[in-house]
Amino acid sequence: MKNIEHIGIAVKDMSVSEELFSKLLNVNSYKTEKVESEGVETVFFQTGETKVELLAATRSDSPIAKFIEKKGEGIHHIAFEVADIDAEIERLEKEGFKLINTQPKDGADNKRIAFLHPKSTNGVLIEICQEKAK
Ligand code: ZN
Repeated sequence: MKNIEHIGIAVKDMSVSEELFSKLLNVNSYKTEKVESEGVETVFFQTGETKVELLAATRSDSPIAKFIEKKGEGIHHIAFEVADIDAEIERLEKEGFKLINTQPKDGADNKRIAFLHPKSTNGVLIEICQEKAK
């Protein structure tokens, strides 16, 4: 795996949190994107080489709504960039990791993504992502 591409943070109220993180990081967000299939609205900030992704639920059965219900707001996942997501999924499965997505799916910010099950990674939700060819 390569660098940490972004850190995902689950928030309740996107407009409040967007303003807060914009102040905190001293930069405006560069992208807002809804991923309808996941029931998620995302806002991205560039912070040096990496990014912060804010995630808010757009409906009550969204994974983000469930996450906040269980754990409250906070760090939701850490995303690592990979050169070849298909090869990486195969490697991780061989190593015995449990994947939530055994096939890459479309994520926000022009990426193919897959999540590992936090039960196999010490309770940390890990995303791997690969930039789609433009
Ligand atoms: Zn992410």
